[in-house]
Amino acid sequence: MKSIKVTEKNYKKVLCPNCNSKKIINRGFRKTENRGKIQRYYCKDCSHRFVIDDGFFRMRNHPKKITCALDLFYRGVSTRKVQEHFKAFYPHNSSHKSVYKWVIKYSDMISDFTDKLKINSGKEIQVDEMEYHRRTNPTKKGVSKEWFIDSVDCKTRYMAGSKYFKSRGQKEIREVMNKVKYKTEGYVTTITTDGYTAYEDVVKKTFGWNNKKQGYAIRHNKVIASKGEGFNIMIERLHNSIRERTKTFRGFHGSIESAQAIMKGYEIFYNFIRKHQAIKKCPYELAIPELILTSENKWLGLIRLSKA
Ligand SMILES: [Zn+2]
Repeated sequence: MKSIKVTEKNYKKVLCPNCNSKKIINRGFRKTENRGKIQRYYCKDCSHRFVIDDGFFRMRNHPKKITCALDLFYRGVSTRKVQEHFKAFYPHNSSHKSVYKWVIKYSDMISDFTDKLKINSGKEIQVDEMEYHRRTNPTKKGVSKEWFIDSVDCKTRYMAGSKYFKSRGQKEIREVMNKVKYKTEGYVTTITTDGYTAYEDVVKKTFGWNNKKQGYAIRHNKVIASKGEGFNIMIERLHNSIRERTKTFRGFHGSIESAQAIMKGYEIFYNFIRKHQAIKKCPYELAIPELILTSENKWLGLIRLSKA
């Protein structure tokens, strides 16, 4: 993989969106009420004038404020408290519903980029599920029992793939296992799970048969806690962190899609934003050494990259 270096200035080569020409010159600024001055461009080949979608196109708030909201939210501050905080510091207040919408929009945007990144993982990936509850109907007391299936690389602590689902059958596990395979292939040799039977076929089928080895390409290491074989310590620790951070969500409300986006955002927070206690770095720094985020505001760096 070629090295990717992000700074807030050089994140993008400007091409004309109309004719793909590189002959672009700066042509003044567009003044916006809440995002300040936006660079305007002019194409010398086709005379097209344009501004660039840097991830905040048509947003009525400053990128700093939006990324601040994401950061506070994933550090455990509720959307209502984020809104109260903004009320004190920004003249143009935003409702807690806007904060919620930003979390969803930008989690989806960034994960389109981060899902494509391959990692230099270690040999063992641990996979497990966590139970969640989502209020399916705000007026009634309908609660749906759902699952977050996740995985962690034991060496770099990078979450190699995860998704929030309505159930935890083979189909769902397969989807997560495919992400794990895509990101870690060539490095991983062992998949560790608990004794849940749905894993068995999926691990075999996803990684397949190795002719050279005359065996399955991956060793499936089943650890059955009830038999006193010990816990899968890395994934248990990950689950403790997730529970700690997501308890303020107080059970999801809204659609399954928004719950999915929020958990995607958590994966981004875990891999790229928060310093891991054990490795004293963010997992991406070990797992993707060629990715360099130069801005202290890594949310902003990731949004820029996902639009580059
Ligand atoms: Zn042009």
